[in-house]
Amino acid sequence: MIVSDEDTPTPNVPIIENRFKKNRVENNEIDLSTLERDPGLRKQIYDYPVNQRDTIIRAHINHSPIQQTLSVYPKSGLETHKRSFQASWFKLYHLLEYSESLDAAFCFPCFLFNKPSGMGHYGQRAFTIDGFQNWKKVGGKNCAFLHHIGTECTSFHNVAQKSCDDLLNEAHDIRNVFEIFTEKERKNNRLRLKATIYTVCLCAFQGIAYRGHDEGSNSINKGNFREILKGIGYFNTELEELFRTAPKHTLYTSPSIQKEILNLISTRARRMICEEINGGKFCLVVNEARDQSNK
Ligand SMILES: [Zn+2]
Repeated sequence: MIVSDEDTPTPNVPIIENRFKKNRVENNEIDLSTLERDPGLRKQIYDYPVNQRDTIIRAHINHSPIQQTLSVYPKSGLETHKRSFQASWFKLYHLLEYSESLDAAFCFPCFLFNKPSGMGHYGQRAFTIDGFQNWKKVGGKNCAFLHHIGTECTSFHNVAQKSCDDLLNEAHDIRNVFEIFTEKERKNNRLRLKATIYTVCLCAFQGIAYRGHDEGSNSINKGNFREILKGIGYFNTELEELFRTAPKHTLYTSPSIQKEILNLISTRARRMICEEINGGKFCLVVNEARDQSNK
């Protein structure tokens, strides 16, 4: 579930609210115009926060691979047999990249889908982080470029290439499924979800039960969660109308949605506590609570 807490009031928890806002700013600020594109200087995708990686990958794809064609490439190697990068290699390996700053070759899809754990793969580190410069190994039956690509469809390069193609294939992009909603529907869904988030926070902060004994449509007391939500609707006719006319699958009031939101909040609260004590240990003292049957 994608939840934006923008404009969602959090009941009487100013410290947590401020931290939420701080994290939100840190996580969402991506200035794509300043994205480093030189393959030898750019940051690895896995070094970005998880929620930014997809945007960064798409930005790189939109720019296409860096294939600088120079009139003369720097020569390196043995004094008697110096070699250099060849622009013609771009035609043979259309996703090959060249970094002018490092005078080195990189592989575009492998960079986009590189993982810290995958550095042991043949040539992956050279083609994604360090840059490949061993020009004498290009060409022939032991060509380093071909070796890097691999013959198996499960090779790191081929899997990365497939992921790249899938991302470019608009029909597979889940965001297009969301595009079928109109702007007004999205706004209405968000408003309903915000009301639910507020009510979940309020119940949690007050330490009261969410559910009632009978939550049926004829019940005179549907439990704290539904009754509070109904109370908010009394003073906001737009919201009341939205909940009354919403399709069942976008009500966002089911117990599973309540638990999902509560889980998201508790995860963030735990993370903030850990940050505050710099990764130290903490414990919770939980008071005993018994129900009517003394269990
Ligand atoms: Zn590759």
